[in-house]
Amino acid sequence: MHSDDAARLSPGEPHRISAGLRTRFVEEFGRDPDGVWFAPGRANLNGEHVDFHGGRCLPMALAHGTYVAAAPRQDGLLRLRTLDPELDAGVQTLSVAAVDAVVGDDSRAPDDGEAPEIEAPVITDVHTLVPGEVSGWTWYVAGTLWALARLGEETPELAVPEGFGADLLICSTLPIGGGLSSSAALECSAMLAFVALATPLGAANPGTALDSALDDELRARLAAACMRAEVEVVGAGTGGLDQTVSLRGRAGHVVSLDCRDFTVERLPMDGLLAEHAFLAIDTRQAHWLGDGQFDDRRADSEAAMHLLGVDRLRDLLPEHPETGEVDAALARFDELTGGHELASEAEGLEGRSTAACRRRLRHALTEMLRSEQLDRILADEGLEPTTAAAQVGRILTAGHASMRDDAEVSFPAADALVETVSEVGALGARLIGGGFGGSVLALVPRDREDAVIGAAARVCQEQGFTAPRFLTVEPSAPARVVG
Ligand code: ADP
Repeated sequence: MHSDDAARLSPGEPHRISAGLRTRFVEEFGRDPDGVWFAPGRANLNGEHVDFHGGRCLPMALAHGTYVAAAPRQDGLLRLRTLDPELDAGVQTLSVAAVDAVVGDDSRAPDDGEAPEIEAPVITDVHTLVPGEVSGWTWYVAGTLWALARLGEETPELAVPEGFGADLLICSTLPIGGGLSSSAALECSAMLAFVALATPLGAANPGTALDSALDDELRARLAAACMRAEVEVVGAGTGGLDQTVSLRGRAGHVVSLDCRDFTVERLPMDGLLAEHAFLAIDTRQAHWLGDGQFDDRRADSEAAMHLLGVDRLRDLLPEHPETGEVDAALARFDELTGGHELASEAEGLEGRSTAACRRRLRHALTEMLRSEQLDRILADEGLEPTTAAAQVGRILTAGHASMRDDAEVSFPAADALVETVSEVGALGARLIGGGFGGSVLALVPRDREDAVIGAAARVCQEQGFTAPRFLTVEPSAPARVVG
């Protein structure tokens, strides 16, 4: 056995995982679940921190994801248990009505910086639900049901009846906090369970029939509802990329997602992936998007956006942008700030550092440019796979430099990994996800995969970083019924 095999995360075999979860469900809740639903995590080739600016993102749905076994209740309670060893604190009970009350309470504004704490004890009793003091992972699930109920008010086939509740048992094959969107996988798998158990659409399409009943348009609406759960209930500033690919990805394809209107195209990856693989390296430096850093970067870029007089930064670039247009937008920014170092001296920058806002602007614009370039490369069926791979690799590495120097969301382990894997044969690599932790994505010739894994493990050991874990990214099917 290869010495690094232990650090490889397998996606597991869905039917075995599902069978195991069913057995645990019976032990936990004393009855059979009605079904098991799965939603994948994602790896994003390019397009970080630009979904909320209307940029293009190029994510792939992973084979790794989150499984939810569930059965309905009639008493308006959610009883939830996660089998993640670090988050599991037994069954958590909350009342759907109490969730409604808390979310509707303005004193718990989603943007008040009050992030749920990962380690904090989650709600164990409905009476502990105090507005402003709620916390914990259960809010991703409760928020998803809340958002589905709102969606059901305008879409009769997705209506959630009064008094609906459910028992849920959750397990995941994703690293949690690894920048591969375990939170979106949790929301989207719970969403499918709720659609199946609560709504007229679910009742009319039992079992796996739900998969085909959920067309792309319905999936887009469910993704928007999951995003709403994360923004309005959890309080994280997501732009919808993660939920979209989890619900609308396709096996063997990268999703080319235009975040101006959430239209997607699916570009086949079989040519490129015949001789190459995408390897995700989980640095195991857990991040927390709710702690304000992600939102701070976003606020810098929004300040630049206001100064430039657009509603989203994508509007600064034409349909098929070139480098010159990025430079022109930056020159316009310089003109408007008039070289003031203190942002408070330049109208619209809300007391922020001019230099920092300029860097965020440059990250957003170049990231959007890279996405358009990648989109063209991957859509070009005439391009020879080796040439395509070399071009994709270069764009990945340029994306990392931008995450490091302009978005300023990288960290030493990610920088060291990008450098090291490139030295031992990767065609390119970059930090993916929101940053401040998470995973590095590398494009690797398949015959160099073991060498890259070995070198990555070694550099972390030598430099005193946590030992990383590795996952091969096989672009996979979207959220679905498993059994
Ligand atoms: P990432 O996308 O990098 O995995 P996020 O910050 O988006 O990280 O989400 C991680 C959070 O999502 C966890 O702290 C937890 O609250 C919730 N979560 C994700 N997966 C699970 C799970 N299987 N069980 C319980 N909570 C989960």
